[in-house]
Amino acid sequence: MFITRFAPSPTGPLHLGHAFSAMLAHDRARAAGGTFLLRIDDLDQSRCRPEWEAQIFDDLAWLGLNWPQPVMRQSDRLSRYHEALKVLWDQGFLYQCSCTRADIRAAASAPQEGAPLFGPDGVIYPGTCRPASPPTGPMPGDAVLRLDMAHACAMLTSPLVYKDQDDIVTPQHLPRTVGDVVLARRDMGASYHLSVVLDDADQGVTHVIRGQDLTEATQIHVILQRLLDLPTPFYYHHRLIRDETGKRLAKRDDARAIATYRNAGATPRDIRNMVGL
Ligand code: GLU
Repeated sequence: MFITRFAPSPTGPLHLGHAFSAMLAHDRARAAGGTFLLRIDDLDQSRCRPEWEAQIFDDLAWLGLNWPQPVMRQSDRLSRYHEALKVLWDQGFLYQCSCTRADIRAAASAPQEGAPLFGPDGVIYPGTCRPASPPTGPMPGDAVLRLDMAHACAMLTSPLVYKDQDDIVTPQHLPRTVGDVVLARRDMGASYHLSVVLDDADQGVTHVIRGQDLTEATQIHVILQRLLDLPTPFYYHHRLIRDETGKRLAKRDDARAIATYRNAGATPRDIRNMVGL
C-alpha cells in the first residue's frame, strides 16, 4: 500500500521547489503502483485565494500529474480539527495561552533564560501561561491552545519512533527542543501541525514526501499521532531547490514560478531537468 500526497497552500504561485516535490511524490506513487493525492492546505483563509488554487490545478496538470477527485480542502474540515482538539483538551494535554509574540520574545530573552532557544516554530515558548496542573472545565472557544509537551511526553508508554527515509528516528527532549507548540489558533481554529496530522491520517497517507524544511516539524506530528491514536506514516524529506545564492525558493519568488517558465515556452521536460529529476 502506498498513498502519498502533495499539499500546497494557495497563497501564491507554485515555484520550481513545489514542482520538484509534487513530481517526486507522483513518480514514487507511480513506481510503487500507489496513489498520489492532491490536498489544498487552505486553513489560513486570510492568505489563500481562489485564483492561486486554480493556478495550482492548472500547473500540476500541465506538468503531467493526475490525482483523484474531489480533492480534500482544509477549510472544509474545521469541525474535524475541533473534535480532535477536544479529545486532547479532555485528556489534559492543552492549555490556553494569551501571550502575544512580543510577550514571548521578551520572556524568552529575559536574562535568567540565557539565549532564546529556537524550535521548528521559532522561539521556544517559555511557558508563561502553562498551568501547574492540567486545566479542567470545557475547552475555551476562539482561543490559542498550546500542547503541554512535557506532560504529553510523560504520558507516553513507549518511545516515540518513526522512519525518515532509511533512518530510524527517536525524538529526544521534545519539551526542550520543540516546546509547547500551538495547536489551536484564534484566527483559523487549528494550527498546521494539527491539521496536517489529521488530514494525512484521514486520507490513509502511508508515505509523506515533503521538503527538508519540515524535518524538525515531523517529530511534532509523530507525537500528535501518538496522542490521537493515529498511525505514523513513513517520512521522506527531500532536498530543497535553491536559487543561485543558495536561498530556498519562496512563494514571492515569481521569477521561478512554474507559470513564468510556461509563459516563456518551457516544457514539462525542461522543468524536470531544471530540478534534477
Ligand atoms: N501546506 C504545507 C506547505 O506548503 C504542506 C506541508 C506538508 O507537506 O506537510 O508547506
